[in-house]
Amino acid sequence: MSTNTSNNTQNVFQEIISHCKEYGFIFPSSEIYDGLSAIYDYGPYGIELKNNIQQYWWKAMVQLHENIVGIDAAIFMHPNTWKASGHVDAFNDPLIDNKDSKKRYRADVLIEEAIQKQEAKIDKEVDKAQKKFGDTFDKEMFLKTNPNVLRVKEKIGGIEARFKKALEENNLEELKQIIVDLEIVCPISGTRNWTEVRQFNLMFSTEVGSVAEDASVIYLRPETAQGIFVNFLNVLNTSRQRIPFGIAQVGKAFRNEIVARQFIFRTREFEQMEMQFFVRPGEEMKWYEYWKEARMKWHRSLGFGANKLKWHDHLKPAHYANAAVDIEFEFPFGFKEMEGIHSRTDYDLTQHQNLSGKKLQYFDHELDKSYVPYVIETSVGLNRTFLALICNGYKIEKLEDGSERTVLALPPFLAPVQIAIFPLIKKDGLPEKSREIMDVLKWDFKCFYEEKDTIGKRYRRMDALGTPYCITIDHQTLQDNTVTIRERDSMKQERISIEKLKEVVNEKIDWRAGLR
Ligand code: ATP
Repeated sequence: MSTNTSNNTQNVFQEIISHCKEYGFIFPSSEIYDGLSAIYDYGPYGIELKNNIQQYWWKAMVQLHENIVGIDAAIFMHPNTWKASGHVDAFNDPLIDNKDSKKRYRADVLIEEAIQKQEAKIDKEVDKAQKKFGDTFDKEMFLKTNPNVLRVKEKIGGIEARFKKALEENNLEELKQIIVDLEIVCPISGTRNWTEVRQFNLMFSTEVGSVAEDASVIYLRPETAQGIFVNFLNVLNTSRQRIPFGIAQVGKAFRNEIVARQFIFRTREFEQMEMQFFVRPGEEMKWYEYWKEARMKWHRSLGFGANKLKWHDHLKPAHYANAAVDIEFEFPFGFKEMEGIHSRTDYDLTQHQNLSGKKLQYFDHELDKSYVPYVIETSVGLNRTFLALICNGYKIEKLEDGSERTVLALPPFLAPVQIAIFPLIKKDGLPEKSREIMDVLKWDFKCFYEEKDTIGKRYRRMDALGTPYCITIDHQTLQDNTVTIRERDSMKQERISIEKLKEVVNEKIDWRAGLR
């Protein structure tokens, strides 16, 4: 990426952050005290969008699957949960400090970014060749034969092999050595003056009990999944489910991230939408493939173009997984993880069974035997999905008359406001008529009423909020019960009768289309 482009994308990202604040989507937490690093609050439109994403996920995962049920587990859990799950011993990130800038980084992320830079070199070669050869260009052949590409590929292969081995062996000296060998510099100080790599546990802890002696350390959950595992038997005994079946949950998780940045992409408090799918041992890879496809389809249904999403296989799956893949979205700062799909084996249930002494098994009538089920997990960040939707939808368009408008092209079914209702002027009974219409529509749609400013200004404000439809009530409405409906993306206006409004808008904001 050239500096110019990266400056531009950086600027666009800054604009998006400002837009979120200006239009009431996201505010820095406790801003009157100058904010709290990497913690954010959701404003009036942000909460609507976040709720809509969450409900859409719930519909897709729970409502549309008779074999998936939901729960809502508490954030605090018995401390043994985190011993059993491995988080006390193994939920670490390798950190490294630059001695000159005093900035702290994740060693693995520095290396991954260095690999991405090498991959960008290949993309550049491809672009160059594409321009040179035009229609006759054979990309696959080029990737297999071009000496420059082969050289970079070999280099990447070498780094990845060392990196994978170092992670597997938990070899912190080797991680540091890779950073030294790759001549990675601190983006702030520009120097290579690094400390040793150290492990850092990501769990926040606190104490229960009012008297110090009684106090015992408990953790804020770093993932929602464990609330599902410890409730496995309760759900099995009450939901009449048979394997294969899933348990879904949306909730807060907390991680003391070493480097929390890029706005709401990585924060220390965030929300996950997770589903654990329990299957027969030996059938996990079939279901892993199934959920990979189903989840990719869900992301596509949010209007992300095919080139905006990609798979990323894990070099080293987490301690509990035997296969893991991420769905990545192209944020303005590059392709980054939005969802993880993991084959978690029987690791968690077995661990909880061992530590609690309770049998966490399923009796399979068809096979006439009991076993600890295997698990496929789909885990998507609610906040990251929110950010992806905003980044994907944010546009500044040049209009025919030379003016500009800012549009947030959100999928209509997720928009914080679905219908804006405007009386053309503030008199002649138009506000009363508008309120009458609003009173009918508000039972089915999130509506917004506005009578101030010119119609043009009101349209612009709704474009910036992502409102898919604006309805204007004018003098003709009083005569023939028709209104003008204006569509956000095309800006086309149509005159329709009030009775038809509900049907027309309903059809246009149908959430089902992308999931069928
Ligand atoms: P990363 O590699 O970015 O740290 P992860 O692989 O640790 O993420 P998982 O444990 O697989 O993430 O969590 C599932 C999902 O939860 C992620 O795909 C992401 O969308 C979300 N998530 C994880 N950590 C954060 C965070 N600190 N802030 C916001 N969302 C997060």
